Amino acid sequence: MLNLEKSSQAFAQAKEVMPGGVNSPVRSFARVKCDPPFIAKASGSKIYDIDGNEYIDYVGSWGPMIVGHAHPNVVKAIQEATTRGTSYGAPTLLETQLAKKVIELMPSIEKIRMVNSGTEATMSALRVARGYTGRDKIVKFIGCYHGHADSLLVKAGSGAATFGQPDSPGVTKGTAKDTITVPYNDIEAFVNLMNEQGDEIAAVIVEPVAGNMGLVLPKQGFLSTLRKETEKHGTVLIFDEVMCGFRVALNGAQAAYGIRPDLTCLGKIIGGGLPVAAYGGKREIMDCVSPKGPVYQAGTLSGNPLAMTAGIATLDIISADPAWGKADYTRELSIKTKHVLQGFAKAAKDAGVKVQLHQAGSMFGVFFNENDVYDYATSESSDQEAFGVWFMSMLEQGIYLAPSQFETLFMSGAHSDDDIVKTIDAAEVAMKKVAEFLNNK
Ligand SMILES: *Cc1c(COP(=O)(O)O)cnc(C)c1O
Repeated sequence: MLNLEKSSQAFAQAKEVMPGGVNSPVRSFARVKCDPPFIAKASGSKIYDIDGNEYIDYVGSWGPMIVGHAHPNVVKAIQEATTRGTSYGAPTLLETQLAKKVIELMPSIEKIRMVNSGTEATMSALRVARGYTGRDKIVKFIGCYHGHADSLLVKAGSGAATFGQPDSPGVTKGTAKDTITVPYNDIEAFVNLMNEQGDEIAAVIVEPVAGNMGLVLPKQGFLSTLRKETEKHGTVLIFDEVMCGFRVALNGAQAAYGIRPDLTCLGKIIGGGLPVAAYGGKREIMDCVSPKGPVYQAGTLSGNPLAMTAGIATLDIISADPAWGKADYTRELSIKTKHVLQGFAKAAKDAGVKVQLHQAGSMFGVFFNENDVYDYATSESSDQEAFGVWFMSMLEQGIYLAPSQFETLFMSGAHSDDDIVKTIDAAEVAMKKVAEFLNNK
């Protein structure tokens, strides 16, 4: 049995002073039957908790840690930067350097603004799209997460497109009513909606590869339809690549699927583990942003020198010219990810457990659901219990996975062949436990 005694005590104390004991809900492990390990340190592919347990980490701080934890280049760059002061609130060369780097990597971005979180990036991108078009309504897809800005915290009943209902207390009906939701991958519902209301819609925002309802890939023709219809109606197409940017492919999902969005939101990897995000895109639209244009958006710590430094160091590692004949960084991660999933597939088959395994680059997911599309109605079903058995068994064997099957897992450059063998060995044990659980039900 895993000893989490110190973590459990720490969690009890944290709950006295913070809602749910955490600063972001998913960290509370609410969906699984154990307290969250409190993390003391991390290095490479491993994280270590305050009880001294070591885990191979596939959460990677929910995406940013693509080069692994405490990568020597990143640590050194940050250490050196701190000696020059931690914030100036004035322009630096570093901001232009990171901006140029991102523009070079992301095909559709001509100008970019740095912010501090993915939430800020999507919120600001929507404001710019509304300012640019002079329209109020936006479209989002059910199950896509774009951070917690009010207008994006809206889901809707399944089925046809419908006016949004507030998803969280505190989001006003007035705000929610301007957000129209459509099922992800439902091309027909989207086209119908655009035929009816396209000329009133400021922006369509989408995760081009959805990673916040588990990992769900876009269906053939889905993204190209979004592009075609938004172009037709003068609507701004926003790709939220906060998670999938630099991961599905080095140049983002937009390169992998050959679609040029008007605006792109980035986060997670772009800050290399420090709080950075960004939005950018067509020059004409980005020139609406203050002080060049009238759409206001600002940040005391935006473009922070430590954060820029960590981002530059991370992007330098993953975009370095590969040696002759060697696959590039992100492609190598995809190959490693594939190996893990092949191991999981065999473990599941040998145990007689039905699973769905999805992959996009170095993002991957394991569904115990029969239906792989996130369904609010069934999210508390017995599949969730099977997932819980899988999750606990993996954790006990030192494999740290996200505590819900509606989250995505991430491979890093620091994961070794040995890590992958250990992960697959653990999966064989865990899948047998799942089979036992399902048989005894
Ligand atoms: C994580 C995430 C966000 C929110 O970013 P934060 O930095 O947590 O505010 C937005 N969109 C997507 C697709 C994400 O995965």
